[in-house]
Amino acid sequence: MELKPARLTFDELFDLVALFFACRGTCDRLRTSTVVRSDENVFIAAGYNGSLPGLPHCDEIGHLMVDNHCMRTNHGEDNAILNCLDLAKLNGGTATIIGNPCYPCARKLIGKKIKRLRYIGVYNNAAGGNLVEGLCKEKAVIMEFVDINEVLASLQKALEFLQGPGGPLKDLPQLSLVLLNRKKEDK
Ligand SMILES: [Zn+2]
Ligand SMILES: [Zn+2]
Repeated sequence: MELKPARLTFDELFDLVALFFACRGTCDRLRTSTVVRSDENVFIAAGYNGSLPGLPHCDEIGHLMVDNHCMRTNHGEDNAILNCLDLAKLNGGTATIIGNPCYPCARKLIGKKIKRLRYIGVYNNAAGGNLVEGLCKEKAVIMEFVDINEVLASLQKALEFLQGPGGPLKDLPQLSLVLLNRKKEDK
């Protein structure tokens, strides 16, 4: 039997959802996002960092700095929570975040009983970021770091699956992430 390309795991899938939502982020100090799912891995909501609807973005008029933090945007976590139609569904769920969360955002997610904070890459200027680990411990929340290279590998895996039998990209020439290929050649 022909070997079929592997299907994404839920973690790999939601890492990619978070990555793509960050494509709409409007503050170039960090283009970030958050996606939240239920304890059964059902998508609940996602959000990226941005100004309030209708107001100008950091990318257009610059940052709104207070104490070395940009105040202009709602954080991705804020917008994911605001986009939730039913906050009760966060109970026991997972939040996947681009960059480690600031303390206020972690507090809100954990306040709504998120049980796992999975963050991709590190942001050194997250307000109170060093306090988040302690809060997670106190509330028995799993905190999980994901290297961005793992997410790129998931993207490659997704491309292979989408080009496999029945995939919507199956009739296109074979697509591949150049960076991963270069890495392979280095070996
Ligand atoms: Zn900004
Ligand atoms: Zn935040």
